[in-house]
Amino acid sequence: MSSSVGTRGESPGSGRAEAEVVDLVSALIRFDTSNTGDLATTKGEAECADWVAGQLREVGYEVEIVESGAPGRTNVFARLEGADRERGALMLHGHLDVVPAEPADWRVHPFSGAVEDGYVWGRGAVDMKDMVGMILAVAREFKATGVVPPRDLVFAFVADEENGGRYGCQWLVEHRPDLFEGVTEAVGEVGGFSLTVPRPDGTERRLYLVETAEKGLGWMKLTARGRAGHGSFLHSDNAVTTLAQAVARLGTHTFPLVVSDSVAEFLTAAGEETGLDFDPASPDLEGTLAKLGSIANIVGATLRDTANPTMLSAGYKANVIPQTAEAMVDCRVLPGRRAEFERIVDELIGPDVTREWVTSLDSYETTFDGDLVDAMNDAILAHDPDARTVPYMMSGGTDAKAFAKLGIRCFGFAPLQLPPDLDFSALFHGVDERVPVDALRFGARVLGHFLTRC
Ligand SMILES: [Zn+2]
Repeated sequence: MSSSVGTRGESPGSGRAEAEVVDLVSALIRFDTSNTGDLATTKGEAECADWVAGQLREVGYEVEIVESGAPGRTNVFARLEGADRERGALMLHGHLDVVPAEPADWRVHPFSGAVEDGYVWGRGAVDMKDMVGMILAVAREFKATGVVPPRDLVFAFVADEENGGRYGCQWLVEHRPDLFEGVTEAVGEVGGFSLTVPRPDGTERRLYLVETAEKGLGWMKLTARGRAGHGSFLHSDNAVTTLAQAVARLGTHTFPLVVSDSVAEFLTAAGEETGLDFDPASPDLEGTLAKLGSIANIVGATLRDTANPTMLSAGYKANVIPQTAEAMVDCRVLPGRRAEFERIVDELIGPDVTREWVTSLDSYETTFDGDLVDAMNDAILAHDPDARTVPYMMSGGTDAKAFAKLGIRCFGFAPLQLPPDLDFSALFHGVDERVPVDALRFGARVLGHFLTRC
């Protein structure tokens, strides 16, 4: 053993992971693991988890299968011992569920896992059976070829991410913290993908976006109460009217621009590369951001808190004024902004409407520095020497929010080298979700490199 990486048989970088990653991702997509948000209709996770466990056992892993709070909500855990067992473990995590897909809308069947035109097609191709397949491929390569990583690796394949993790990561963190014993850092979605930006000299630069922060997620129920009555009478206390006014005020409100540390670092790097002015103080920051293309949808959503009304419900008959009216609002709140956000919401909805958090997951932010970040950076540069890694904040939420509660430092790093013109953000939960075959092979190489030096 000449380094921290020990081998027997085939050497690390044997190409085994790269060779099988596409087949693994395709096979994962063929399990319809649609998470409807309803226990009665959510399906497929258990079958998919069994298959993942089988892939791990085949190369010699001891696997623990854990059900998280309801039948069929199945999670798979395995551990690979590292050279230095005194160090904290690194967890690689991926969720097995996907959002539903309507086959009639798709070019290929969303659960076909078809490999066509240089892409693997299907629901989960980028969210996140791509990363699940890459983790699985590297885990299998390491075990099969005797690679000993620098420290323990924990592989976690979990249920229910697409509905907030109540029957997945959240249950596991609450009821089985022992599964995460000794884990100090974790890597999962959504980051590691490339964004090609134009440079002032006419060339291009690939940035790889590493997720270091996530906005908080909150689903808020608004309730207006009034006086029930006949629809033909004069009526000054109508719950529907009161609610509608509050919803309109909230839905049209623009929250203040707040540049968090992760966002500031991204903007600085993007400015250095493109020559564009991403100074947070510049009057048209959002307009400049749009010049970066579709990534503006993601980064733009991390400049402010947002509150989007998504559901309305009231009444049961056209001529009856109901006593109550309800709305749901999808709120995404920047780190450190929770109290101020709630203050603004209360002001907007007014005293006649009450609010209640139905689901509430805190924001998360870590710094873009340290040995693990260096290892990610080195792994990317080893396979794409002209590239640059930059931190960014996710507007959505991932399982990282739950793992962070255990004190685990979390990153989104699922490396993919993407074609410059691919609208990556539109593929998440989108129609014709697909991932380039070459990007998966690149990802398997980078992840393998990273995990032998983490
Ligand atoms: Zn996901």
